[in-house]
Amino acid sequence: MLLNKIEDVRKQVAEWKKQGLKIGLVPTMGALHEGHLSLIKKAKANCDKVVVSVFVNPIQFGPSEDFDKYPRTLDADTKLCDTESVDIVFAPAPAEMYGEGQRLSNDTLTYVCPPFFYVNKLCGKSRVGHFDGVCTVVMKLFNIVQPDCAFFGQKDAQQVIIIKKMVKDLNVPIEITQCPIVRESSGLALSSRNKYLSEEGKKDALALSKVLNNIKACYQKGITDVSALKETAYSFLTDKHDLEYLEFVDKTTLEDKEKADRETLVLVACRVENVRLIDNIYIEEN
Ligand code: AMP
Repeated sequence: MLLNKIEDVRKQVAEWKKQGLKIGLVPTMGALHEGHLSLIKKAKANCDKVVVSVFVNPIQFGPSEDFDKYPRTLDADTKLCDTESVDIVFAPAPAEMYGEGQRLSNDTLTYVCPPFFYVNKLCGKSRVGHFDGVCTVVMKLFNIVQPDCAFFGQKDAQQVIIIKKMVKDLNVPIEITQCPIVRESSGLALSSRNKYLSEEGKKDALALSKVLNNIKACYQKGITDVSALKETAYSFLTDKHDLEYLEFVDKTTLEDKEKADRETLVLVACRVENVRLIDNIYIEEN
């Protein structure tokens, strides 16, 4: 069932709650692919009813980012959700979420702002305000849907860590489940933004997963020094790659690592054909 209004979602959810059903939420920006579907499948397996939100959230995009051209494919998304027996697709207009004619800024709207330590690094460094926008919309979706569980992808690893932190700090009674990264057989992590890449660009984009897999292989051979591991990346990068960051952090706290260990998460962000791509890997897990 496709719903656009907050009130309609609330009514339906209230019915389910009366019946004692377990509700799962999968927040997305649409242009759904197998990565999103893996979250939906997990939600279906773990909950009685599943709500998928499809909302390109204006307040998490910077002024020079791709908000206007972000792919919007609601018909196809709704069909995919139907094939997965999703119970509600919630696709509100920006005015439904933030109010008609509302100026979208933290001068006039209440924002949820995660701690500076968590946002002043990795993606948050170049995307100033991004995680304020993410936490604000996720908190709004939590309050609208009031799910028991919510599902997020490891693909956006910093995002899940920040959402878990928000849920803990604000005592939000929702269980957060992280799902593994879904990749093409080539190794490329699925992303709605891959649509912007040419065939050649997609080949160049493989460098991200190659860099990460090679770092893991070097670690398995006994190299733990982070600067030495970072050095190994350069053989995969050409002038087609505009590297934004390659960082080694603690997988829970986002603290920087000088030596890689079993708690280490390695994250990379790189532009290919001016498309910003991200990927990450746990150095000791699959
Ligand atoms: P987005 O629509 O890009 O905001 O993503 C919605 C959710 O899907 C987020 O929790 C993402 O981390 C997750 N997601 C996106 N791509 C993938 C992927 N390749 N594998 C697993 N989860 C993903």
